[in-house]
Amino acid sequence: MQSSSALAAGRGWGDYLPITAVKEYYWCPVSAYLQLTGPRPRETWSMRAGRQRLPRERIRALLEQRGHSVREMLWEHPVASHRLGLRGRVDLAALTSRGVVIVEAKLAAPGPRGLQGRDRRLLAQLAGYAVAVEETLRLPLEAAYIYSTEDDRLTPAPITPGLRRLVEHAAKELHQALEKGTPPETGPLVRGACSTCQYRGICPRRLHA
Ligand code: SF4
Repeated sequence: MQSSSALAAGRGWGDYLPITAVKEYYWCPVSAYLQLTGPRPRETWSMRAGRQRLPRERIRALLEQRGHSVREMLWEHPVASHRLGLRGRVDLAALTSRGVVIVEAKLAAPGPRGLQGRDRRLLAQLAGYAVAVEETLRLPLEAAYIYSTEDDRLTPAPITPGLRRLVEHAAKELHQALEKGTPPETGPLVRGACSTCQYRGICPRRLHA
């Protein structure tokens, strides 16, 4: 378990960082840090859309079609990894005969090429939920999916050991940065991220200059 961070505590995170910070880290580590410590990020259209009520029975049917024997569905279930100091609410943790299937809803799911490229951060976020779900429910992960509300479609999201390592790395880097009170000095930066970044005006790295 990571030690506490006064900066994070000031935003109410305490010893735990939101799992969404893992996704942001793989967009830009500075942006992830500023989201945790600076002005609250403005709500985007896709964030509002993501809060729409999900078609629960439809998602259950899609899971059953894929061969998952669902016993119980836990919606917006709070989960935490004490080991990594992460917490969040997974859109769906479906308890099955073989463990647990997790589903994260997005407005639109990228295709397989996107998931392995620019949108790999979505897989990192799902891996963060997977780690926290396993630790919270003490069940093995059977599968993970992204549910696209636009297309009414499940996209498989294989949670590989490499993705689990990405989660560990991001959590460690962000906890250390918060302890030091300075943004991470190195890390991944998705091409073009700066051009639409809401933190351009206050970014201490000014990588976009
Ligand atoms: S301006 Fe660029 S480097 Fe700075 S926080 Fe935004 S995306 Fe990151």
